[in-house]
Amino acid sequence: VSDVLDRAQALEEMERAAGVLAVRSLCSAPTNPFAGCLGCGEEIEPARRAALPSALRCLECQEALERRERGL
Ligand SMILES: [Zn+2]
Repeated sequence: VSDVLDRAQALEEMERAAGVLAVRSLCSAPTNPFAGCLGCGEEIEPARRAALPSALRCLECQEALERRERGL
């Protein structure tokens, strides 16, 4: 019986470790799964996506957003 318990426990630990890894990789390498800009829907320039994988907006929309955030 203890053998079965050990195996269940090992499985549980593996699942927990895999979950932590998945969460960690999500946090360390945020990427925009959609190639499109959230602002205008146009495709974000490949160069911009390469430089900033987490970019959700094209340069134009990002700049417009930042201007709005600054209250200009
Ligand atoms: Zn845009």
